[in-house]
Amino acid sequence: MTRRSGAAKTPRRVALISLHTSPLAQPGVGDAGGMNVYVWQSALRLAKRGVEVEIFTRATSSADRPTVQAAPGVLVRNVVAGPFEGLDKHDLPTQLCAFTAGVLRAEAAFEPGYYDVIHSHYWLSGQVGWLARDRWGVPLVHTAHTLAAVKNLAVAGDDVPEPHSREIGEQQVVAEADRLVANTRTEADQLTDLYGADPERVDVVTPGVDLDCYTPGSRQQARARLGLDVNETIVTFVGRIQPLKAPDVLLRAAAPLIRQGNGARRIRVLVVGGPSGTGLARPESLIELAADLGISESVTFLPPQPAQVLADVYRASDVVAVPSHSESFGLVAIEAQAAGVPVIAANVGGLSVAVRDGESGVLVEGHDPARWTQRLDSMLADPALLQSMGTAAHTHAQSFSWEHTADELLGSYTRAISSFAARAGKRQADTDRSGVADRGGVRRRGL
Ligand code: UDP
Repeated sequence: MTRRSGAAKTPRRVALISLHTSPLAQPGVGDAGGMNVYVWQSALRLAKRGVEVEIFTRATSSADRPTVQAAPGVLVRNVVAGPFEGLDKHDLPTQLCAFTAGVLRAEAAFEPGYYDVIHSHYWLSGQVGWLARDRWGVPLVHTAHTLAAVKNLAVAGDDVPEPHSREIGEQQVVAEADRLVANTRTEADQLTDLYGADPERVDVVTPGVDLDCYTPGSRQQARARLGLDVNETIVTFVGRIQPLKAPDVLLRAAAPLIRQGNGARRIRVLVVGGPSGTGLARPESLIELAADLGISESVTFLPPQPAQVLADVYRASDVVAVPSHSESFGLVAIEAQAAGVPVIAANVGGLSVAVRDGESGVLVEGHDPARWTQRLDSMLADPALLQSMGTAAHTHAQSFSWEHTADELLGSYTRAISSFAARAGKRQADTDRSGVADRGGVRRRGL
């Protein structure tokens, strides 16, 4: 198979690397969250634009077939690297070599130039992509999704800081990647300021939302489907239960309001998601907190839900709360708004882009529960405000779509391919001039 020629080549086949979590996993528990949704949704949209997408992920079950045609144009390759179950995320670096070997062996079955570009997600995948890039002679585009240096500035509660070794690994990937994709301008600045990335190589690509799934709908009917009381005021948290996401801040903030009531209406906090990470990893700890606060009867816990049910969860809610200590973007905030529900969110990271303060929701500075109580109370006490914010939220969310994300990613891939080709041409010219064969270190082809 020969590589197409031409100045601005768009990719025909992309290798997405998502080592530590499969796009086919249910998000909202363990290590599965927004990144899974991002990889899956962007892969679907790239495939719709005629790009073949192959996603490499680590097999986590003996039942995982080596390849799964997950959707037209989207192939998932389950690479065996380490035990299927019980491997802690912090032990994944021990399996980098095995995983990389699996990726390289899969590609070796094809002619050179099988993939046009590699897009790695999260730093572990970046390490794999960096070596594959050198072996395959195609450019590496990398999305960090979260950065240890940023997360560690926001370590909360019993959360364990990210190890320094991760920062070193991230630094290496930032230096090696041909292009970097940041979710927001803030993340782009963090890449340049904290990791020394070349600003010329960073593209800001905003994540999207599934606008066909997350639509407004009857609150009463959604509550009936979920078995929730139509007469209550419902404030909802959706996401992985971990200190960084701060579901405890919502419980503490809601407790005084629950105890005093919202006029004639009772307030209920709905928590949707499963345990992840450390500290509040035990779902019981949040249940215990509700008991300590005396609000157990007013808090409902639901396990992680698929997107179609989640759409009803949003529709059933009066307000969705995203109190995170750190958030690179915050897909939940956009999904809730697409469903016409205002959001109360911490003014951190991408949430300041995802929520229009005072229009589609409210951004709160810091995590002082008393301040959250006051901001939540003023929202809930004003039904007309909630209504107008819900309408504005729906409108705001329409500017985010996975189609747009895929188009922007294609632009980034195309830029990576042309700058990579230009560099390869220059190396070849230098080699021809010097008359010395370029043995290229570990590089097999291309560069
Ligand atoms: N999610 C889900 N079911 C759940 C809880 C969450 O599908 O029960 C999804 C949610 O729709 C969102 C993602 O998990 O797309 C969480 O992404 P977000 O950016 O909010 O947080 P992250 O997990 O990346 O920290």
